[in-house]
Amino acid sequence: MAEETIFSKIIRREIPADVVYQDELVTAFRDISPQAPTHVLIVPNVLIPTVNDVTSAHEAALGRMITVAAKIAEQEGIAEDGYRLIVNCNRHGGQEVYHIHMHLVGGRVLGPLLPR
Ligand code: AMP
Repeated sequence: MAEETIFSKIIRREIPADVVYQDELVTAFRDISPQAPTHVLIVPNVLIPTVNDVTSAHEAALGRMITVAAKIAEQEGIAEDGYRLIVNCNRHGGQEVYHIHMHLVGGRVLGPLLPR
């Protein structure tokens, strides 16, 4: 059994967070340390630690993460200019919180994907 992170407490509304969307599959809330004018994290309500732990049973939640990202981007007014969706995995990917999450980042020109 994977160990819960702070994101499970946010999903259950046990600790405060700026939740912008929630349904039966996913929760979205503003990153506590935003890297751009819009920085929202979209997480499955079920605990999946990393992309390596994904199975076909998770496909509904993972698909919902994308449709919710598009909806939030529209609400934030960044859909037309564009934005970036990021999922980090493990140490080389820079993952800090071991509850899979998608960063929705936008509101400014983001530059190259990786440092050159
Ligand atoms: P990652 O490096 O992909 O694991 O990203 C983890 C993200 O979670 C970072 O951008 C953190 O700023 C963010 N974060 C950590 N704790 C919280 C929290 N309590 N509420 C909102 N965002 C958080």
